[in-house]
This record gives sequence, structure tokens and C-alpha cells, in this order.
Amino acid sequence: MMGSLSISQIFHCKKIRRSCRLESKEKAETFEKRIKDGPLGYFEILPLELKFHLLSYIPVEDLSMLTISSKNMRNLIEVYRLTNNAKRHLMSKPLTHTVMSIRDQITYVEQFKKLGLLMKRSTCLYTTKDRLRIVERFLSKYLCGNADKCTDPTHCIALVCFGKFLHTVLNGWDDMELIRTFETMSINSYMWKNLGIIVNSKPGSNPKHEYHARLFYRRVFLDQVEKVQDRIFWITRILKPWPMVHQARLLFLLYGPVSAEEIQWYDVCENCPANRHQAKLCFGDIADILRLLHTQGKEWSEDDIISVLDEITSSPDDWLAENVAHLLFQCGDQLTLKVMGSKAVNGRLAELASIITSLCLVCIKQDCPMTWVTAIVHRISSILDSSKDKQMFMSCIIDTFREVIIDLHEFSVDADEDRDIDFQYVLDAQSEFLKEMLSLSTGKPT
Ligand SMILES: [Zn+2]
Repeated sequence: MMGSLSISQIFHCKKIRRSCRLESKEKAETFEKRIKDGPLGYFEILPLELKFHLLSYIPVEDLSMLTISSKNMRNLIEVYRLTNNAKRHLMSKPLTHTVMSIRDQITYVEQFKKLGLLMKRSTCLYTTKDRLRIVERFLSKYLCGNADKCTDPTHCIALVCFGKFLHTVLNGWDDMELIRTFETMSINSYMWKNLGIIVNSKPGSNPKHEYHARLFYRRVFLDQVEKVQDRIFWITRILKPWPMVHQARLLFLLYGPVSAEEIQWYDVCENCPANRHQAKLCFGDIADILRLLHTQGKEWSEDDIISVLDEITSSPDDWLAENVAHLLFQCGDQLTLKVMGSKAVNGRLAELASIITSLCLVCIKQDCPMTWVTAIVHRISSILDSSKDKQMFMSCIIDTFREVIIDLHEFSVDADEDRDIDFQYVLDAQSEFLKEMLSLSTGKPT
């Protein structure tokens, strides 16, 4: 019996004697096995702290590449991403709601793009719900309304950076996931509720909310996209759930003129831009988005665009005719023809004449050849049914010029010099238009 027992059964505490050489050989073999069989190769034999320390020397863009090298590497980086060291590594200087130099702004936006890529790749196997939760945690930090110390939202780039981050994460998601993202973020940030209040109130009655809604949707969803089709997708998500009159209101809220952190709702009904630069500032953005929807918006019919443009130019009151002409001029001849063609079909000759005379004035102010307007007049005439209508249309234009000159003479309250300039513009517009029309009818160049 005794002979069958080993020594360890008799002396439980006795350490088995082994040579150092044997121990190190065994250790080397274990390492070799771990390196060979382990999913992280040489990384396997390092303690976790050392692995994290090594990761902290890797640039963020390379880290994001590593996350797609293997599932285990991704898991390791995911755990690392949550450590305090990683926070300093991923963003050495936390983004604050302060005004900063252009150079710093560019650095931060670039950094957020890299972070977006890391987030996108490291969470690629998560459910949409979990990914959205992470994105939302990010957003809550960068909403200017949530920040106690955001004193200058106009120049603060927190939401711009977040927009860059968001669109990098969303790149390649399908439409259903994008719609879900839009709804979740709009609703949870209370911005959708805010929009509801804005469109159901008088324009300008809550300027602060209006301005914050504009910054939110422009910076988070619209301005940081890289493809035109993406911009169209997001603006369609913002506008389509509302009736046409509210869509027009929201388009003006997002792209209309702004001054001193307030949307200039009534300016378009009272004043005209003094020069080409002001006209571009005032109507350039809104014209660009309308043109984009008209030429490339698959969910937008021609009638939709014409109706929304009609609503925009009659809200909050009817715009001054010259401002309607400025907007149409910047929308380009294709859209202008569609809008005016629809008025011609509906027999709105007086309105057409008023826009034509204003377009002549805009052409003079913009230094654009009058052939731009005469070509439109020619096309509109061809839409009108009878020669009587065509004759009436031309008479209306001439009469409108006359009325504009009389109004300018009788009601002008500007200083003499300004009034003289306005007179000059109208007279030039009238004579250039008539010269061009005569040259067309006689077939001779002027
Ligand atoms: Zn801010």
C-alpha cells in the first residue's frame, strides 16, 4: 500500500522541487503557446495595464483601423476607450463652449471626425439602439442650451463638432436607421417639440427658441454632410412631416436672413438689399436649398416646390416684389420659369408683371444682361393662350413700370441722394428692358 502513494499525498504542504531551468523552459513554452493560440498574438502575453499603455501611443485614426482587425482587438479597444487615460488620449483638450481661433476650430472638427470613425468602427456589431444611446450621450454634452457657460452660441463650435462626429458615425447606415436616428435625437433633445411651438406661433414671437432650433438643425443635420443627396435627405426629414405653410416657415427659419441672433422675418416685407453682396447674404442660402430640392429632391414634385416658394414669399406678410425677384433671380432661370409659368396658367398677369419689372431692376443691380428677363418674358408669353392675353401681359409690364416710378416720386421718404439712385435704377431697368424687347421684335441687335 505505502509503495503506491506519491510524496505529495503524504506531505501536503511540501513544494515539489523543480529546477529553475525547467521552470523557465515551461514558462517559455506557455508564452509560445499563448502567442500561437491566443487571438491577440504577442499582445496576449502582456498584462492589461501594459496593453492600455501601448494603445495610448497609437493615433486615433490607427486605433479605429485596429478595431476592424479582429473581434478581440475591438473588444480590447472598447474597454480601453472607457478608461480615463483613453479620454485624455482621444481628446487632449476637452471641447468647451467657448469662442476659439479658426485654427483651433479646424483641429477640433477634424478630431471629432476621427472620433466618429473610431465610434463607428468599434460599435459596428452593436444594435442601432445601443449605438444611438452612445451618440445621444455625446450630444447631451454639446447642446449649447444645456451648457451653463455657452455665452456665444453663434460662434461656439460644439454643435458643429458634434455634427461632424454624427455624420461620420452615420455614414453607410440605411434609410430606416437614419430616420430612427433623426426622430430619436429630435424628440429627446426637445427640438421637435420646440419646432411645433414655433410653427404654431407668430413669427418672431420667441426669437431665442427660433434661433436655437435653427442652429441645432443646421449644425447637427444639415451643414456637416458631405454629399448633396444627404443634405436633401435631412431637410426632407425636417420639412415633410409638416403641412406646406409650416414647411415654408421652417425653410425661412433655417435659411432666411439672421441679424443679432434673430431671424429677420419682417425685413423681407419692408426693406430691399442695397447691393449684390447683401442680396446674396439675404436670399443666397434659401435659394440654394430650393434649387437643390427642385433639381435633385426625389421626394419633391415640381408642384411642391412652387407651392412652398409661394408660401415663403407671402409669409409673414407679402414680400416686397423686388425681394421676390431677388429670390427668384438667385434660384436660377429654371425654377423662376416654373414659378412664373404656374402664375401664367392661373392668369395672375398683374402679379407676373410686377415680378418682371422687379426682375429688370434686380438685373440692373446685379449687373446681369437684360436678355435673362426678356427670355423669361418670351417663354411666359408662349404659355399664354390668346394673343389678347399676350398683349395684356406686355401692357401690364409697361403700366407697372409707370406705377413704380410714380410711387417712387410720391411716397419716397429717403434722403434725396438715395431717391435719385433708386430713380436711376428704375429708369435704367425700364429702358434696358424696352431696348431688349424692341431688338427682339425687330430682330436687330441693340
Ligand atoms: Zn455652445
